[in-house]
Amino acid sequence: MLETAHTLITRAGKKLGLDAKTVDELIKIDAEHVFKINLDSGKQFDAYRVQHNNKLGPYKGGIRFHPDVDLDEVRALATLMSFKTAVAGLPLGGGKGGIRVNPRDLSEKELEELSRKYARHLQPYIGPDKDVPAPDVNTNPKIIDWMVDEYEQLTGDKTKASFTGKSLGKGGSQGRDAATGRGGVITLRQLLKHLGKENHKITYAIQGFGNVGSFFATIAAADHSNWKLVAASDSQAAVYAPDGLDAKALEEYKQQRRSFADYKGGGSQVISNEDLLALDVDVLVLAALGDAVNETNYKSIKASVVLELANGPISEQAFDKLSARGVTIVPDIIANAGGVIVSYLEWVQNKNGERWTETEVNRKLEAYVSRACDALFKTTDDQKVTLKEAAFMNAIKNLTK
Ligand code: NAD
Repeated sequence: MLETAHTLITRAGKKLGLDAKTVDELIKIDAEHVFKINLDSGKQFDAYRVQHNNKLGPYKGGIRFHPDVDLDEVRALATLMSFKTAVAGLPLGGGKGGIRVNPRDLSEKELEELSRKYARHLQPYIGPDKDVPAPDVNTNPKIIDWMVDEYEQLTGDKTKASFTGKSLGKGGSQGRDAATGRGGVITLRQLLKHLGKENHKITYAIQGFGNVGSFFATIAAADHSNWKLVAASDSQAAVYAPDGLDAKALEEYKQQRRSFADYKGGGSQVISNEDLLALDVDVLVLAALGDAVNETNYKSIKASVVLELANGPISEQAFDKLSARGVTIVPDIIANAGGVIVSYLEWVQNKNGERWTETEVNRKLEAYVSRACDALFKTTDDQKVTLKEAAFMNAIKNLTK
């Protein structure tokens, strides 16, 4: 993963005519905090915070709790964050954190102790103007609220701008929960406009009907009656209905924590995840996990547009093969930037002691995503490069200004 990130940066740097020293500067990591957290119960966990680049503003990036977290993964994700904030035009840098833990193995009390000790250890290195972490895989507003409270007790800082992704009652922003899915909808709309297909009827399938995927589908259903959702999946199975699925009904079904393997909505059938990827749809939305499309299954993809809502859902080799075949792949650092954009808006509200309505937040989100897309399409057209290369080139332009 780290190697892939470095390849992308190096390729884009070369296209921009940067010398090797400048490319090395872009790859270099500013600081790494690697430590152990000991719980009162005697359990011990490896913890990380990597601060990649703060040229444009405070480091920004999530904290994930997962048994597979390791230093290289955190380094790669921190690096990608610097490029995501830069391509989105935010005055923020890139960072990432993680704890190598399966949170399901911990009691609520242990989870709180772990979260507070993480914030306590990092307190000297983070803060509203230094590094502003957020939730990521398996972390949520409740965990962030504990961290903010710990930070506040240690420093006296009452702005709550030290972390984003807080609960609404504790300084969180309206629109944050839906932001990544909404950003994805705006990105796809902008792409279709760019391709002259804004008013065409399109069909699409979503791999991963979780937080991001379900918000994408319900917002798309509300805003675009010409986009037809024909399939959606979870980790167990997929549902398929050529005449269209009701996104709201699927969301309500998933809220009951049930798998699509048992779904019996009108006119739909259960298919496998691999079948979903191979459907003859216009757009495939990948909102589940990394490397979902890889060397073994890329040949089955029939969609002409693929939207990367998950982080790195297409392997490097599959990306090259699909791009060569003319598939338009909207890269993750643009397609899923809605989350970090609204995190930024939360941080601004906290720093200024303001609270904006959901409409106001969504309006600002739309403006950031649309601006980033316009710049992206201009670079792709001018330089004749893929959207991914264009995204890295635009990010680098901002980082080296
Ligand atoms: P989530 O856990 O809410 O949802 C993930 C969904 O994917 C679940 O429905 C799960 O059942 C499904 N899934 C897992 N394995 C699958 C498989 N093999 N095939 C099909 N479906 C599978 O997570 P989320 O918050 O929606 O995040 C999804 C992706 O988007 C992740 O890669 C995450 O890193 C990325 N992302 C999330 C945000 C955010 O704001 N939540 C921001 C940027 C990027």
